[in-house]
Amino acid sequence: MGSSLRASEPAAVIIVGAGPAGSAAALRIAARRPDLVARTLVLDRSVFPRDKLCAGGLSSIAESQLARVRAAPSVASVPVAATEFVLGSRREVLRHASVAFRTVRRMEFDAALLDRVRRRGVAVEQGERVRAVHVGRTAVSVVTDRGEHHALAVIGADGANSVVRREIGVGTGERGFALEALLPSNARRGAELSEGIAMIDFAPIKAGIGGYCWIFPSRDADSPLLSCGIAVCAPDCARSGRLARSFLLEWLASRGLQCDSSSIRGHGGIAYDPDARLGAPRVCLAGDAAGVDPYLGEGIPCALGTGIAAADAVVAASDRNDFDLTRHHERVRRSAIGEIMARRRLFAPARYGRNPVERYFLAARFFGRGARSLDTTEAIG
Ligand SMILES: Cc1cc2nc3c(=O)[nH]c(=O)nc-3n(C[C@H](O)[C@H](O)[C@H](O)COP(=O)(O)OP(=O)(O)OC[C@H]3O[C@@H](n4cnc5c(N)ncnc54)[C@H](O)[C@@H]3O)c2cc1C
Repeated sequence: MGSSLRASEPAAVIIVGAGPAGSAAALRIAARRPDLVARTLVLDRSVFPRDKLCAGGLSSIAESQLARVRAAPSVASVPVAATEFVLGSRREVLRHASVAFRTVRRMEFDAALLDRVRRRGVAVEQGERVRAVHVGRTAVSVVTDRGEHHALAVIGADGANSVVRREIGVGTGERGFALEALLPSNARRGAELSEGIAMIDFAPIKAGIGGYCWIFPSRDADSPLLSCGIAVCAPDCARSGRLARSFLLEWLASRGLQCDSSSIRGHGGIAYDPDARLGAPRVCLAGDAAGVDPYLGEGIPCALGTGIAAADAVVAASDRNDFDLTRHHERVRRSAIGEIMARRRLFAPARYGRNPVERYFLAARFFGRGARSLDTTEAIG
């Protein structure tokens, strides 16, 4: 059972999930209310460092959110000097004076961030899975596979398949997904790619898939790699993982990159909706559990920013001793990251289109297979 917080007094706040959202929330609470540190508990079902499917691209927006919690974990990263955007025949290379962004290994980055949380004195329980959350009049009970905790407030930062989100009755939201494969960077030879340049190609749109393909320079512990993938952001395109997988394979092959289908992994995501409820009495959501930018699926800054917003909501609730967090979505909407996500939500339909009939015919033409391959019940990847 471990934590001293299991004593009879409820914790001030329990944060479910120790990814960037949960860590940002914990760091923000520690910075704003040091008196709450000893009464804050972070729970995660995994033991860190844990695997996390992600291209690890840290944009300047992510860096500025990290600065807000005074945490820039010193982990190995790969600088990206420029990004090439491709839209049909149009190509635009965005170069920056220093670096456009950097890529990190999420396994290292998340563990380093969580280490900061621990070093600020916040209790962290790993390998403990939350099963249920019961909201009572004076506290919330968090039921795990090891026992039960009680808190005045709970932040659900437990990812895209959030148990906390389900437990407070917020719907599943509009869902997208992303597929990723890591290729050795010598696959670059013969492919039209330059060192240190990332590519974002909106080619899937022509095939009726509302998303983009990417290639980011990356690395594992020993060697340079390429993170290659497809993000399907337009939620009503999220039905067909198989289509996206074959598109990705063809797209990579057209760039001279051979990829084994079995090395592709996928993960779902919820598109941020400014009007969707993100809280309940004593509970609010952050990170993927709250939703990510629906245009690019750039979730790390969203996770950090909404983690901070959730911490601010809990601190304010504790100050006024009123833990009704039902209108938490309004706080998120007013925040800088909320504004970015809302703006990107407006771009998404303009870029990806929302006419399912048109997309059906585009896909049928591209894949030449007709209706069977467009089965709306297909699962991701
Ligand atoms: C293929 C792919 C590529 C991506 N590339 C990028 C990119 O380049 N840049 C970018 O900004 N974003 C990217 N993203 C998005 C980004 O990875 C996520 O938005 C981000 O990880 C969200 O952070 P989080 O803290 O909300 O959730 P997570 O990082 O998923 O953390 C949630 C935590 O909750 C824990 N948890 C889950 N359920 C429970 C439970 N029941 N009990 C206890 N603990 C639980 C998990 O173990 C996990 O540690 C990518 C996503 C994918 C799928």
